[in-house]
Amino acid sequence: MRATLMHSAGDVRIEDVPDSRIKNPTDALVRITASCVCGSDLHPYRSMAPGSGPARMGHELIGVVEDVGPEVVTLRPGDLVVAPFAISDSTCAFCREGLHTSCAHHEASFWDGIDDEGGQAEAVRVPLADGTLVKLPVAADSALVPSLLTLADVLGTGYHAAKMAGVRPGHRVTVIGDGAVGLLAVLSAKRLGAEQIILMGRHPARTDLGRELGATDVVAERGEEGVARVRELTGGQGTHAVLEAVGHLPAYEQAFGVVRPGGVISRVGVPQYEEAPIGFGSLFRHNVRLAGGPAPVRAYIEELLPDILDGTIEPGKVFDVETDLAGVPGGYRDMDERRSLKVLVRL
Ligand SMILES: [Zn+2]
Repeated sequence: MRATLMHSAGDVRIEDVPDSRIKNPTDALVRITASCVCGSDLHPYRSMAPGSGPARMGHELIGVVEDVGPEVVTLRPGDLVVAPFAISDSTCAFCREGLHTSCAHHEASFWDGIDDEGGQAEAVRVPLADGTLVKLPVAADSALVPSLLTLADVLGTGYHAAKMAGVRPGHRVTVIGDGAVGLLAVLSAKRLGAEQIILMGRHPARTDLGRELGATDVVAERGEEGVARVRELTGGQGTHAVLEAVGHLPAYEQAFGVVRPGGVISRVGVPQYEEAPIGFGSLFRHNVRLAGGPAPVRAYIEELLPDILDGTIEPGKVFDVETDLAGVPGGYRDMDERRSLKVLVRL
């Protein structure tokens, strides 16, 4: 079968690899019908250490179950399923608390942690299939597929940012980052009743989509200027919640610049730093809380799926380009160069 491999920074190739197959009794084999390139795939695309590759890529997928191991009970061949970016059993103590990304099962993992599998491929072995996969009540060629695919990562991640920040009706919210996660954090804040949603981003095509998804204000300035602009838009107070969907230190610095006293900074952009201010001048002085982490998107699928099925939300709007597997390397390049927002891959 064919799959996507990253050999080194900037070097993504489609190559023949051994066919994925069932190994454990709780596995499912899924023939992938839709996948995509993630903003987080761009971190290794820019900085993968020489000699550490090649790595199988892709962690967002929809596909058809081809085969199941003897211990799989909820799925059958022919089922259309979505796979979150994390493998989980959905039964351990952490999963039951809705924290599937901390699943205690020994097979729990992110896709990146499984050497010979990946979502940007023709097929994939899904461990802990009963816990990980969610059956979709539509056909593989449904017009809803782009929106349903966002349940695998970017919608659930944006929603996690808003949930961890405790966004509720009447809140003012700042979203930092106009990538797919930032835009769907906007959608999520709106869904949770935020009154003012300030989107910090500087790509007009993206911030226009942000307005469509619920942003009430757009701030293109960054750094101190951006902070001053958000303060101005909030009567000097800042916002109750700051949803940080970038992961670089300047975005975090912007976050504590715009958060309201007593507010929450919720980070879902994978931090590309280990050291950052948490002291008197940043968090402590005004009782600011820091939240967020890898989104347990599996926990949110049942809640968000009905809204997609009935058209209440259309998170699939973040896909602006569609390609096939052969187009994946070009998709990385276009996303890296910001020519496309998010690339949908049809197989
Ligand atoms: Zn678990």
